[in-house]
Amino acid sequence: LEDQLVQSQKMQAIGQLAAGVAHDFNNLLTAIRLNTDELLQRHPVGDPSYPELQNINSTGLRAGALVKKLLAFSRKQTRRMEMLSVTDTLSDMVVTLRQTLGEKAKLVMVHGRNLPPVIADKSQIDTVLMNLCVNARDAMAEQGGGTITVKSAELIRSEIKDPVLAGSLRGLPGDHFVTIEVSDTGTGMSDEVKAKIFEPFFTTKEQGKGTGLGLATVYGIVQQTGGHLDVQSELGKGTTFRITLPVADPSKLPADVEPVKPSAPLE
Ligand code: ADP
Repeated sequence: LEDQLVQSQKMQAIGQLAAGVAHDFNNLLTAIRLNTDELLQRHPVGDPSYPELQNINSTGLRAGALVKKLLAFSRKQTRRMEMLSVTDTLSDMVVTLRQTLGEKAKLVMVHGRNLPPVIADKSQIDTVLMNLCVNARDAMAEQGGGTITVKSAELIRSEIKDPVLAGSLRGLPGDHFVTIEVSDTGTGMSDEVKAKIFEPFFTTKEQGKGTGLGLATVYGIVQQTGGHLDVQSELGKGTTFRITLPVADPSKLPADVEPVKPSAPLE
């Protein structure tokens, strides 16, 4: 619990710093980009200065994309909490995920039947899923691909066998949970790496590829949703991230929760 507190304080501090820097930096970038746009008009293709100007411009675009990621990470987004079917949310993402992951990462979805709803922001769950799957794909790239399994299931407190999991769910309300697991058949992680993965800006990816913000964002979202996030990993075998969310208690809905949306019944 203390670790969690330290982690969330770190996240807050870095979030604030990042938001401030990203905002100012974005203004500076805009000025640079306006000027290079202007210069590119005066020195179009064929002009001796064009390649360098074009290079400045595209670097500026990349810097802009990074700043956007920073802002998305740190901004206190307005959340829209609703009663959510995890199964529907995962299913809605399949097409986007397959497109993003490419052909080498095989995506398998295994849904629990008639899962009870949770209270969450749909787009935040989308972000979590996307970040975990992209990392899973990257962890399998060296070996030319593999399988990503996304699995949803129900979990009843009294039926938990793993004492570590039982302990870490002690702070969560209720006895009934929905879990989302994202497993890959990739490289796995050493204990040293595993200890740092939720730290903002920690990355083992080559420069320009990783920002180190993916898992920090996932961690923040799961915290904000009142859930628990854990990871199991074995070098050479693969990694499983598991998110545990409390099932919505209809008698204790927070005031800002949208009413239940009827979802297609599972056969
Ligand atoms: P990034 O993807 O930009 O590096 P993340 O915060 O998403 O940032 O991930 C941090 C690091 O955690 C990665 O660089 C990688 O070393 C490790 N990691 C994350 N997911 C996995 C995974 N599924 N398998 C192996 N390593 C992983």
